[in-house]
Amino acid sequence: MPNWDDLKKIVPTLMQQSDKGFSKYAPPSNAAYSSDLIFPGAIAFPEDEENVSRIIDWAKPQGIPVVLRCGGHNYAGYSAGRGAGSLMIHLGGFKKVQLNVADGKVTIGAGCLNGEILSALKGKGPSPEVSLAIPSGRCPTVGISGYVLGGGIGFHTRRFGMGVDSLVGTKIVTADGKLLNCNKSENSDLFWACRGGGGGNFGVNTEFTFKVNPVEPVVLYRLEWKSPKGEGASAILQDIFSLISDSEGDLKRNLSAQFGIRASVGDDGNRSANIVVYMEGWSYDGDEVKLAEILNRVTQKNPPLKKKIEKKILTAAAEEFGGGGEHGGPNLTIPYRTTSVVATEPMRPDTSAAVVNHITDWARGKSPGEAAAISFFAMGGKDQEPGEDTAFAHRNAYFTLSGTAYWSITDTEDVKNYSQSWVDAVRDSLSLRLGKGAFVNFPDPNLKGWEKSYYGEGYDRLREIKNRYDPSNFFRYEQSIKPM
Ligand SMILES: Cc1cc2nc3c(=O)[nH]c(=O)nc-3n(C[C@H](O)[C@H](O)[C@H](O)COP(=O)(O)OP(=O)(O)OC[C@H]3O[C@@H](n4cnc5c(N)ncnc54)[C@H](O)[C@@H]3O)c2cc1C
Repeated sequence: MPNWDDLKKIVPTLMQQSDKGFSKYAPPSNAAYSSDLIFPGAIAFPEDEENVSRIIDWAKPQGIPVVLRCGGHNYAGYSAGRGAGSLMIHLGGFKKVQLNVADGKVTIGAGCLNGEILSALKGKGPSPEVSLAIPSGRCPTVGISGYVLGGGIGFHTRRFGMGVDSLVGTKIVTADGKLLNCNKSENSDLFWACRGGGGGNFGVNTEFTFKVNPVEPVVLYRLEWKSPKGEGASAILQDIFSLISDSEGDLKRNLSAQFGIRASVGDDGNRSANIVVYMEGWSYDGDEVKLAEILNRVTQKNPPLKKKIEKKILTAAAEEFGGGGEHGGPNLTIPYRTTSVVATEPMRPDTSAAVVNHITDWARGKSPGEAAAISFFAMGGKDQEPGEDTAFAHRNAYFTLSGTAYWSITDTEDVKNYSQSWVDAVRDSLSLRLGKGAFVNFPDPNLKGWEKSYYGEGYDRLREIKNRYDPSNFFRYEQSIKPM
């Protein structure tokens, strides 16, 4: 067992399992990995890069496994810990948000969460209702580090590109304890890898510098159809897909969208009656009437039960979506498993029907859990235009799909097994129809051939870079990039 007292001499704050506060910082957002068997023996909270470097210099020669933690939202528990002999390096102390309006950039500490960045940039545009924004993700508690290192998708993707497309520099402490500046001219190979090569692979990133984009008030929309009958659900999904992939006008840049289908257990225990199709997002041009007309292409044939269209400043729109989304925000008591498919094939009617069948099967299954969802983040705008050279591999996609099953910590093995098999079936059937790609920010521990699915042809280049900066594979977990 590591001698944690030695480490206490190096870091200002170290929490061991028996310390007050440990149980607040150790659990990840997915309760499937919230276990004393997985948690690390200690959590180190470095205050600066020098601290990070000294922690690595202490842990590496002793072979102590480390995990890195920013927002703790990794779906597969890769920031949860590797048992009592392991150490978590928690970046929660790196909270800087330093805006340089003159050069249109912001430098963000590696411990910041999405919501903190949004608030810091609120109203910082040329007038109070104009915010500055990086292309961030949906949930306010997602950490910047994992989010951007994996590529980063969100409502801004079609307008401004993936999160990594706005990244212009990062600082990272590598396995030899050195602090490196990475950008297009310094350590450009490592910079390339940090733009989509996934968290926890190359070192401890301590800050990220992004270009910022001014965003005028947006028109938020939310549409919801409850238990559409018969073929209804797949017809709605198909209409939504036609709309988001329409290349007329500026639709692909102006309209952001997340849509999907979900089922959950109702108060009466019924799941089949609780199937909902939804579509939500915002448009950028501030024109509510125009947006209503555009959405009519989906709503006219199938009027939604709930419909909201409202102009809002960016932060208010983001806050409205904050608690919702696929996982309904972080809830440390809900275990789940997610898989993903990055779609390079269009969604045909038989694919929409298959999506709906997966959800109805789940709802009627023998041992379903709390909820299941198949969600789609629309792509196909700026994210697909030739531009920055990054490790993010999916530059010809229509959307990224996630399939998630949730259960409860008190559920039986039958329910867990059913949930796992259901997620496997979603990935198997939908990847056959839509493409083999998968999104590293939605890691799936059961995914076979994850190397090519996450990273495509870039995987070999990532391995070469890993070899250069971490040849002894100090930073590693089940699906980390292996040195050559
Ligand atoms: C509720 C919810 C909503 C989500 N919404 C979106 C979304 O809209 N768009 C999207 O793209 N993704 C989304 N995700 C996925 C999310 O982006 C990824 O899970 C991301 O990795 C989380 O980053 P984190 O810092 O919170 O997680 P962590 O679990 O802390 O870290 C994730 C990975 O990065 C590593 N890491 C952490 N900090 C560092 C660091 N400083 N340097 C190097 N490596 C580090 C960790 O070791 C781990 O492997 C969502 C996840 C959840 C649970």
